[in-house]
Amino acid sequence: MADERATVTCPDCGLEESFRKLADARSRIEDHREETGHDPTWELGRLSEGVERAGDEAGICGRSGCGDEESPLFRDDL
Ligand SMILES: [Zn+2]
Repeated sequence: MADERATVTCPDCGLEESFRKLADARSRIEDHREETGHDPTWELGRLSEGVERAGDEAGICGRSGCGDEESPLFRDDL
């Protein structure tokens, strides 16, 4: 799903689950902690992360040397 907002991962057992609601992810982490004593983590905002990366590659931040000229997203004719 492209609109997943949080991915819960557990390095102890390889758990990986994606959730569309942060609250669901949070309760999954708490449940998993209680059930197994593991220490799962979550990765938030997969979407915005992608957008941020695209922005970097397109040189949107405006600093010289910031854009990645190898990226198809890079345009110097803006
Ligand atoms: Zn685990």
